[in-house]
Amino acid sequence: MPTNNPVTRTIDALAKGTVPEDDALLALLACDSPEKNQYLQEKADILRRQTFGNHVYIRGLIEFTNYCKNDCYYCGIRKGCKSVTRYRLTPEEILQCCENGYELGFRTFVLQGGEDPYWNDDRLASLVEAIRAAHPDCAITLSAGERSQESYQRLFDAGADRYLLRHETADKAHYQKLHPQDLSFENRMECLQHLKEIGYQVGCGFMVGSPGQTIEHILKDLRFLVEFQPHMIGIGPFIPAAGTPFEKEYAGSADLTVKLLSIIRLLLPKALLPATTALGTASEDGRLRGICAGANVIMPNLSPASVRKNYRLYDNKIATGAESAEGILQLKKQVERIGYEIVTARGDYPDIK
Ligand code: SF4
Repeated sequence: MPTNNPVTRTIDALAKGTVPEDDALLALLACDSPEKNQYLQEKADILRRQTFGNHVYIRGLIEFTNYCKNDCYYCGIRKGCKSVTRYRLTPEEILQCCENGYELGFRTFVLQGGEDPYWNDDRLASLVEAIRAAHPDCAITLSAGERSQESYQRLFDAGADRYLLRHETADKAHYQKLHPQDLSFENRMECLQHLKEIGYQVGCGFMVGSPGQTIEHILKDLRFLVEFQPHMIGIGPFIPAAGTPFEKEYAGSADLTVKLLSIIRLLLPKALLPATTALGTASEDGRLRGICAGANVIMPNLSPASVRKNYRLYDNKIATGAESAEGILQLKKQVERIGYEIVTARGDYPDIK
């Protein structure tokens, strides 16, 4: 690949740890040359292998409640979606999911749910304590939305290690287009700061192609990631969900998501980067493409099969086959075929003691 091309020079700079100027990053984002995008991917893969080898970590996803008090415009389980069949797993069911996952080799459990008032601090903390007692060697990740600093602290003290809270967009005006007035950009950012201060391994992330998103917004997201230095970054294409204000909007691009995974891998070489379910939904081989591009985490679904269809964040969400925890053997083979290896380690951020 000739290095006198500006985009190639940007890729080379990224690979050497330099964060390029805005113009250079915008040109890279806009570049649709397959050769240059391939070159970008190769550089991202080299860097990933330097830190993580060919390992891909698996996290067992438990979607423990689809009740939510919020009305985010893009979300298929927002409170305004009246057609959703609501469910809430019991602590016993959740512990059973962990038990099943442990036997399948999972050493991280991700408890993901809407902002469900039922799961107050007392209930969630005692659930975390019970999982911690049953599986002292496992990481517990929570993804339960915005809470107070005291609440985050209490859950951390109960045994939670990691917290996922997507920032969705680093642009305040764009944030307001995606959320109703009672949700504020400032509070989301403050929550992320609190999580970091408490000592969680923190995950943020954003949708690619959400309504109103521009390439400049994506640039802002990249700048935010560099500044915030999250331990985990979840990005996936926006997929419209029936019954939401955005149901008729176009879906985001799987190709751009894959490309962003490579750029993010170069910007944050040690980050844990999932090849998300949304990417697998947007493109049949999306998750495998994501791994080739620099992702190193997959989150198969450990939720009881009977409730999976009800955790419908967006339309046509995949939930069976290699996406499910039961499909782990199939997933292992798919990942091996492209030159990587599923491992059962906890997969913490490399510098965490
Ligand atoms: S995105 Fe999260 S907080 Fe917003 S409505 Fe959906 S589940 Fe609730």
